[in-house]
Amino acid sequence: MAVDRSDVTAFVALGANLGDAAQALRDALKALDDTPGLRVVRASGLYRTAPVQSTGPDYVNAVAEVSTTLTAPALLDALQAIEQQAGRERPYRNAPRTLDLDLLLFGGARIESPRLAVPHPRMAQRAFVLVPLAEIAPALVSTGQLAAVADQAIETL
Ligand code: ADP
Ligand code: MG
Repeated sequence: MAVDRSDVTAFVALGANLGDAAQALRDALKALDDTPGLRVVRASGLYRTAPVQSTGPDYVNAVAEVSTTLTAPALLDALQAIEQQAGRERPYRNAPRTLDLDLLLFGGARIESPRLAVPHPRMAQRAFVLVPLAEIAPALVSTGQLAAVADQAIETL
């Protein structure tokens, strides 16, 4: 009997702050949904945020819920391939970027490998993650978590 890998619900953070960042995010959502073994279930609206520990123009951020039969490492490969297609370069840490795709949650998995940490270790400190995540999955974000990042400027686009 064939073993079917069952669908996992995962959450992906999208961010960009170079060029037409809003369009980059829309293109990335389409590219995600076009990935074999992956379907975008819902996406938050687009948010504008000031760079955190970074320079350059404001960011556009969003979070997407996806359903996937990929493993977590294969999903990270897919995210990085989409970043590359968008012309992502990494000249230095926290450099402005055409597209950043981070894996926030992968079902209930806890992963600590050299290239992949899940849940994303910095997600709880970032309004640009928590606010769009709360929009599409309110049960996953507490009011206390939102209060802790309330000093970070974020507005709907
Ligand atoms: P950042 O997103 O932290 O600004 P990068 O996008 O350049 O920086 O990612 C740096 C590295 O972080 C990647 O090469 C990737 O292997 C690693 N990484 C670890 N955990 C995750 C995760 N949950 N989602 C995305 N990348 C991750
Ligand atoms: Mg990243």
